[in-house]
Amino acid sequence: MDLGIRGKRALVCASSKGLGRGCAEALAEAGVDLVMNARGAEALEQTAQEIRDRFGVEVTTVACDVTTPEGQSKVIEAAQGVDILVTNAGGPPPGMWTDWDREDFIRALDANMLTPIALMKALVPGMMERGWGRVVNITSQSVKTPIAVLGLSNSARAGLTGFVAGTSRQVAHAGVTINNLLPGIHDTDRAASLDGGVSQKEGISVEDARRKREATIPVRRYGTAAEFGATCAFMCSQHAGFMVGQNVLLDGGAGNQTM
Ligand code: NAP
Repeated sequence: MDLGIRGKRALVCASSKGLGRGCAEALAEAGVDLVMNARGAEALEQTAQEIRDRFGVEVTTVACDVTTPEGQSKVIEAAQGVDILVTNAGGPPPGMWTDWDREDFIRALDANMLTPIALMKALVPGMMERGWGRVVNITSQSVKTPIAVLGLSNSARAGLTGFVAGTSRQVAHAGVTINNLLPGIHDTDRAASLDGGVSQKEGISVEDARRKREATIPVRRYGTAAEFGATCAFMCSQHAGFMVGQNVLLDGGAGNQTM
């Protein structure tokens, strides 16, 4: 399927690895020029070069922490005029509700709620003026099926979800769609670190922690960054213009719900 976005330009945050990289690659395959971001400059530049070589698109890199005001300024400056925004950042650490204090919540809110909101506030007005835009926020399955040990993530993602529910309906008239893409467990460094936590807590091997988790998923495997990226690219395509304010869940059927 031709996604109809060849020649457009996208900012994909936190994209040197994992799900962000999957989205960057799928957009590049559709002919979209990229602004890519991550904190580590070396891995970012290597991924960017691989994407340039493979897909022949233009890629600008901005190495910075996108959850800080300074990082956001740099990314926004490089991304002026983009047609597509994919927000993403690392997720908060797991833990117990009794362990978290105000500062932990502020960090989680900054990273996973206020950062995507700041990026939307900076880049969506231009999209509206030009009459076309796509925003996809990478959130989490925890929006629909909260995971107790990820209480910081549950809280911050719920805040962003509420913001998007209202705002997406205020900008849709100008040709701009905002939606959220909710990963269930996917095969990335983040999943390996979550499996590591279970392995330590339960005194089992990391492989057994993974097998245990896979057994709870109807498809019996973790998702891939390529599958995730392909869905993101579709949500950024010409064909997705009627999709507004949705929370699209990719979890292999793990969450048993109808909404
Ligand atoms: P990942 O494999 O750990 O990749 C993270 C990517 O983001 C790397 O490129 C990393 O590069 C970059 N990054 C992290 N923090 C950043 C920051 N503050 N500023 C700029 N770049 C940053 O993570 P992932 O699995 O792709 O997950 C992406 C998001 O989906 C996370 O919020 C995660 O919580 C959520 N999620 C993932 C899963 C899953 O199974 N994978 C499930 C549910 C939700 P640097 O380290 O160099 O910055």
